[in-house]
Amino acid sequence: MTVADAAGLAAARGKDRWADAVVVSLPDGFGTVSAATLFKHVTEELADQLSIDHLTGAFNRRGFLQRLEETASRKPGDVESVLLLLDLDGFKLVNDALGHQAGDDLLRSCARRIARALPGAVVARMGGDEFAALLTLETGMTPEGAALSLVQQLALSTPIAGTEVVVPASVGVVAIPPGSDPRNLIHQADVALYRAKGAGKNCYRVFDAQTSDDLERQLLVSQELRHAVDNNLLQLHYQPVVDLDSARVVAFEALARWNSPTIGAVSPDEFIGLAEQTGLIVRLGQVLLGQAMHRLAGCSDPELKIHVNMSRRELQHPDLVRRTKQLLRDTDLDPTRLVIEVTETSVAVDSRQMIATLHHLSDLGVRIALDDFGAGATALSNLWHFPLDIVKLDRSLVAPLVGPASRVRSHGARVQAIIDLCHAHDLVVTAEGVEHPEQADVLRTFGCDYAQGWYFGRPNASLGPTQTHRAELAEPPSPLGLLAG
Ligand code: C2E
Ligand code: CA
Ligand code: CA
Repeated sequence: MTVADAAGLAAARGKDRWADAVVVSLPDGFGTVSAATLFKHVTEELADQLSIDHLTGAFNRRGFLQRLEETASRKPGDVESVLLLLDLDGFKLVNDALGHQAGDDLLRSCARRIARALPGAVVARMGGDEFAALLTLETGMTPEGAALSLVQQLALSTPIAGTEVVVPASVGVVAIPPGSDPRNLIHQADVALYRAKGAGKNCYRVFDAQTSDDLERQLLVSQELRHAVDNNLLQLHYQPVVDLDSARVVAFEALARWNSPTIGAVSPDEFIGLAEQTGLIVRLGQVLLGQAMHRLAGCSDPELKIHVNMSRRELQHPDLVRRTKQLLRDTDLDPTRLVIEVTETSVAVDSRQMIATLHHLSDLGVRIALDDFGAGATALSNLWHFPLDIVKLDRSLVAPLVGPASRVRSHGARVQAIIDLCHAHDLVVTAEGVEHPEQADVLRTFGCDYAQGWYFGRPNASLGPTQTHRAELAEPPSPLGLLAG
């Protein structure tokens, strides 16, 4: 920016005439300065006084916040405005590859293009490669429309340092309700921007309160979970797997439980999902695998098996086989007593490494179970190249096996066909989510081998007979009662 530009800006802001003299403070040691240095210093000082960003001529953060405050404090019924935050995707690359001068040129071009995409907007560089814009919506214009034209304008190529570069942007946008808090608005636009970046960049996201609550919850749970894993505060509960013919408990499935002293009980679906996203699942899984195997080793029944769930990231970890071998040595367990449960969704991804890992585990003697079968769209025929031993029928296949006879019959035919197909491939079948005796009876007549569910026992902290509905109702001895002796 030149002094004349600055003067023009001052005039545009309603000053009668621009200052005859600008008083500037010179740093110590400014005994002799060249005219150019003095000029640069004077213009920068002036820009600061006018809240202008030296590099781009847009507002700086301070200037922008002042304007945002004015807009946010407007009265209901005034024209609607939006706040947009924008972050360049790959600015650093240009800066590193083409030099700082090119980086500066890119920032200047970016400020110009924001003004072009959003005529009439207050534009600011908030710092680094982050820009902001404040726009009064014309009739018929929406926050989405404003954000989209910004994304589209920034996705065009621009000449920098003699070459055409494309540096797209992510945009977060929030509508400004009358009487809102400017700092809160910036935070909300930031949340939306963060989501746009997470969604693969070169796009925009509109802030909504639900997303913000979700993100804050995710952050809190992730932090607490890390602490819980580091301090061994997770527990396992065990749910019995019962042989449908003999009613004996043949195995237990280990299910993670977490009761945080600060945020209370968190469901496994929530914390396992988050642990997968953050990568914490690998450490969490290792701790729980060790816990489950030591627990089984301390159990008197030499036949009993333990099922442990393993998610995709754990299976992809290069150290899994070595650690499992080590645990088998430490606990002196027969490897066939360990069953690793993998879901169709984690193995359906074509990953050679994962197939190799499963084969390594299988070669050790460890059993592999396919969990939640029937919940997704995968056909069993896609899975023959996996070394499977057990197929677990998802709860959704078991649920319709009770109720109107016609439904049980028509749905039952499908379940029967799956069981037959599994048996034809020497796979053992375990039904999940059995809640009613009728379901157990139907499954038994279909030749299903094992079953699991609240009817037989809920997950429990101990590796022993657990209470069942039938026991609670003081009906004939539960299947678990039969096996206890
Ligand atoms: P899953 O592996 O399918 O585990 C079975 C889920 O069904 C468990 O939920 C269990 O408590 C519940 N359940 C058992 N019987 C019944 C029944 O009769 N009716 C109904 N409605 N539900 C029943 P939970 O414990 O909440 O675990 C949810 C999921 O979290 C598990 O689904 C599993 O995918 C995952 N998970 C749990 N622990 C671990 C773990 O240590 N590692 C990994 N990677 N995932 C785990
Ligand atoms: Ca499971
Ligand atoms: Ca399951």
